[in-house]
Amino acid sequence: MATTELIPCPNFINGEWSTPNVDTFSPVYNPSTGEVISQAPLSTAEIVHEAVEAADAAAYDWWQTPPVERIRILFRYKILLENAFEELALSVTRENGKTLQEARGDVRRGIEVVEYACAITELLKGECLENIARGIDCELQRQPVGICAGICPYNFPALVPMWMYPLAIACGNTFILKPSEKVPLTSVRLIELLQEAGLPKGVLNLVHGGRESVDAILTHPKIKAISFVGSSPIAKYIFEKGTQNGKRVQAAGGAKNFVVIMPDAEILKAVDGMVDSSFGCAGQRCMAGSTAITVGEAAELFLPEMSAVARGIQVGPTDRTPSGQLGALISSEHRERLRTLIDQGQKEGADVVVDGRTVQVPDFPDGFYLGPTILDKVTPDMTVHKDEVFGPVLNVIRADHLDAAINIANACSFGNGCCIYTSSGRTAREFKHRVKAGMIGINVGIPAPMAYFPFSGWDYSFFGDLHIQGREAIYFYTRAKVTTTRWFAQGEGDIWHKD
Ligand code: NAD
Repeated sequence: MATTELIPCPNFINGEWSTPNVDTFSPVYNPSTGEVISQAPLSTAEIVHEAVEAADAAAYDWWQTPPVERIRILFRYKILLENAFEELALSVTRENGKTLQEARGDVRRGIEVVEYACAITELLKGECLENIARGIDCELQRQPVGICAGICPYNFPALVPMWMYPLAIACGNTFILKPSEKVPLTSVRLIELLQEAGLPKGVLNLVHGGRESVDAILTHPKIKAISFVGSSPIAKYIFEKGTQNGKRVQAAGGAKNFVVIMPDAEILKAVDGMVDSSFGCAGQRCMAGSTAITVGEAAELFLPEMSAVARGIQVGPTDRTPSGQLGALISSEHRERLRTLIDQGQKEGADVVVDGRTVQVPDFPDGFYLGPTILDKVTPDMTVHKDEVFGPVLNVIRADHLDAAINIANACSFGNGCCIYTSSGRTAREFKHRVKAGMIGINVGIPAPMAYFPFSGWDYSFFGDLHIQGREAIYFYTRAKVTTTRWFAQGEGDIWHKD
C-alpha cells in the first residue's frame, strides 16, 4: 500500500490549533483507496476539561452578544462555506468514501442548517400575554442552556456536525464538538472557516477522540446539554449516562427503514427512488431504504427492474474521473461484517438475487468496496432483518396485503423512516396514519427532513424528547424563563391620566 503524507488533525481549544500530546491515535482512511491519510488523536479527559474551561470562560460574553451580532458571524460563515463548497465536498469524499455528488449533498444540507440559524432573531423570540390577571403580565423568554457538546458519527462528516453547533451557538451557547474519529478532517476545515468568520475564542472548541473523551463529556459537571448521533446501543448509553449526570440529551440512533411497494405503484418511479434510498451513500445512512416490502404481485413487477438497475451500478472511487456511482464503505471491518450478514441471510433461506460480495474494482484493490446486493424472500426472523445492516444491501420481504406490510414494519424496534409507493390516496393515508415511524414518505424514497423540520426518529431510533433541527432544536438549545410582572400604582404622584 502506498504511503502518503499524513494530513494534520489538530484540536481547536480556546482559539488555538494544536495536536494534543496523547499516546493513542486512530487511523483515518481514504476508503476509496484503503490508504491511511491521517491520525486522529484520542483526546484524554484532561483535554476535554481544558476545552470545557475555554467554553466556560467564553460563555458569559457570548450570551451577552446580541443575537443579531451572533448571526452576522454566521452570515459571513455561510459565504465562506459556499466559497469552500467543492473543497469541503472533496474532504468528505476523501475521508468517508461516498461519491462526490453525495458529498456535495452532505455539505449542502449542512449549509442549510447555517441558513436556518441565521434566522435566530426570529426563532428566539419569546411569548407575552398581557393581563393574565388584572394589571399582571406574563412573558416567556429563551436563554441559552450554557455549555453544550456534540458527538458525531462517521456517515455525514459535514452535515451532522452542522446539525449541532450552528444552532447551539446562534442560541448563545458555547460548544464542544467531538467528530467521529473515523472522519475528523472535514470538521477541522469547518471550524477553520468559522474562526475565519470571526467567532470569538472559546465559543466553539473541537476535540478529537473516542470513548474516553465521550465519557469525559458525559460526566463533566459544566456541560449542560449533549447532542449525539450514532448507533442505537451507543445512543442509549449516551442518553442514560448523560441524563443520570443531569444533562439534557438528544441521542439519535440507528434505523431499519421500510418501503412498502403496492401493486398499483408506478413501478419505475419506485425503482428510481429505491436505488437512491438503498444504495446511495453505499447504504451508510440512517435514512437508507434497507427493506422493500412488496405487496401481492408488486414483487414480480418490482424485483426484475430493481435487480437490473442494481447490476448496472458502477462501483469505484468517486473523487476522480471516471468515477463510480457507488462509493466505498468506511472500513474493511465493516465490509467483513456485511459480507457475513449476507452469508447468514443466505444460510437462513434468503435468495441472493444480486450479489455484491465479490465486487472487484480495477486499480483500487485495497478500497473498501461492496457491490449492490439484493436479498429476496427475507423473513422477519432472519439476522439480516433484525440488525441494522448499514450497507448497500436491500432486503425484500413479500407480504400478501397492506395490513401484513404495516405489521412487519411496526414490529421493528427502530422508528426512523417508512415509505409507501402507491397510486391510491386512501392506501397512502391508511399507511401514514398507522405506521410507527417518525419520518414518512409517500411516493418518495426515505426522506430526510429539511433543516426547518425536526429529524424526527421514534422508538429505538431516538432517545430524548427534543429532536435535531427545526424549532425542536431551538427548544433543545435554550431554556424558557417565564416572568410574571405587576407594577403598583404610585398613588397621588401618578403621572398617568386615567379617564
Ligand atoms: P457509533 O455509535 O459507532 O459512533 C458514534 C460516536 O460515538 C462516535 O463519535 C464515536 O467516537 C462514539 N462512540 C463509539 N463507541 C463508543 C463507546 N463505546 N462509548 C462512547 N462513545 C462511543 O456510530 P457510527 O458507526 O460512527 O455511525 C453509524 C451509526 O450512526 C448508524 O447506526 C447510523 O444509523 C447512525 N446515524 C443515525 C442518524 C440519525 O439521525 N438517527 C444519523 C446518522 C447516523
